Amino acid sequence: MIRENLRALEAIVRNLTDLNTALDEALIVAITDVRGNIKFVNERFCQISKYSRTELLGQNHRIINSGYHSKAFFREMWRTIANGRIWTGELKNRAKDGSFYWMHTIIVPLLNDRGKPYEYVSFRTEITARKLEEEKLDALIATMPDVVVFLDGDGRWLKANDAARALFHIDSDVYRGRTTAELRTLRAANAPALCRVMASDEAAWDARGPHQEEIEVPNPEGSLVTLQMTKVPVYHNDGQRSGMVLIGRDVTAQKRTAEALRRSETIAAVGQLASGIAHEVRNPLAGIKWAVEVLRAKHPDSSEQIDLILKELDRVDGIVGELLMAARPHATQFGYVNVHDVIQSVVTLMNGHARRNRVDVRVEEAQPVPPIYCEPHRLKQVFINLVKNGIEAMDQGGCLRISAARRDTGVVVRVADEGHGIPDDVLTRLGQPFVTTKEQGTGLGLMVTQQIVQEHQGSLTFHRNTPHGTVVEVWFPRATDGQSISGTGRTVTSP
Ligand code: ADP
Ligand code: MG
Repeated sequence: MIRENLRALEAIVRNLTDLNTALDEALIVAITDVRGNIKFVNERFCQISKYSRTELLGQNHRIINSGYHSKAFFREMWRTIANGRIWTGELKNRAKDGSFYWMHTIIVPLLNDRGKPYEYVSFRTEITARKLEEEKLDALIATMPDVVVFLDGDGRWLKANDAARALFHIDSDVYRGRTTAELRTLRAANAPALCRVMASDEAAWDARGPHQEEIEVPNPEGSLVTLQMTKVPVYHNDGQRSGMVLIGRDVTAQKRTAEALRRSETIAAVGQLASGIAHEVRNPLAGIKWAVEVLRAKHPDSSEQIDLILKELDRVDGIVGELLMAARPHATQFGYVNVHDVIQSVVTLMNGHARRNRVDVRVEEAQPVPPIYCEPHRLKQVFINLVKNGIEAMDQGGCLRISAARRDTGVVVRVADEGHGIPDDVLTRLGQPFVTTKEQGTGLGLMVTQQIVQEHQGSLTFHRNTPHGTVVEVWFPRATDGQSISGTGRTVTSP
């Protein structure tokens, strides 16, 4: 009886020893106290860390810390095990000789009667070779401008490149092994973007082939980014889900460009229409004027009102005339021009727009300036753009001052508004196409303006106005040494 029991016990002990040996062979094992001080390590732990057992015992586990993982990573690990839960993850460690090795790690907290951990047992397997392969893949996708994410068959994140992590606000070493839904709860800031991305995951699995869609997600700065997403599901032969590749291309700029082009085409079309409309308006105007003159003869006592009607009609005629000039395609014809005339016709054209925006346009005291050699229609376009921008910058209304002054080197026209000023990030990009802060803007005005000024060998400068607003100065080189012409003088069309 006793002998039998002994034999059974012997068998159990042998089994346990075998198990121990097997574990020792298969796994890297360590036991630490709750502060991470090492109480036990097995032989394989010593081999891989290149420390002797006596060097390790009593030391803190930090001795093999590689410095690779973030504080947040370890904080999350400690939180898990201190709460009595098992933690699984991949850790990069450093051996005594300074070499690195990767471990797939499971940490099991051993709990006392009160459910508090008193020891942590870790089981690890080495995965350095696989990690090196992964690192090659990482290097390949890391710097790709596209957002790249690999998911496993359960939708857990295996890999996300720099662009993906930046867009979704995800730290480099906390996403692995988590589903998109889990990542969403990690940080409130990335929730909306991740929500949007995962919405079509099931549809993509069902598609069993590449699934494409365009989605809008908020980026870390809070503005919306348009991503062209491609999701490619991969299935095992037995029909089980194996993994999914997500690739997102930022097409925001392209979309904006296409939209701006479309808008500028609309504007060009409206411009062509405008010249037709201008003719339609002009013809009846002549008839009305004639009829009013006839009325004057019949009603000599209403002369005051009739004068008013004629004055207003002249104003309409002036605006329509300017519209016609601006919209009509012109052969480029340079000549000597008085900028005061150009300014005056721009003011006529823009006055209505200004009044609707409660802006008072003032042409400051006309100082005689020398004529400049220019293409008058192009020059008009310059001032239309500048005046329009000035008016549009004054949401609360205000005063827009235009003046021309002679300089030794030529003529400077100053357009000063009292608006909100040009934001610094826009200022550095002025003149580039499609830079606009307006909902209905094209971002083409200043580009065209700059081109025209350059064609005239002039220059365009922007200053801050005090107390607020913008001053734009357009300088044109002096054309001849000829006599200056007065502010109200005629446009000179030949030298
Ligand atoms: P758009 O007027 O269609 O936006 P522009 O090329 O004319 O295009 O102007 C580009 C941008 O520069 C504007 O959207 C605006 O943000 C800024 N800007 C230009 N002029 C002014 C101004 N006088 N005051 C404030 N901002 C201005
Ligand atoms: Mg503009």
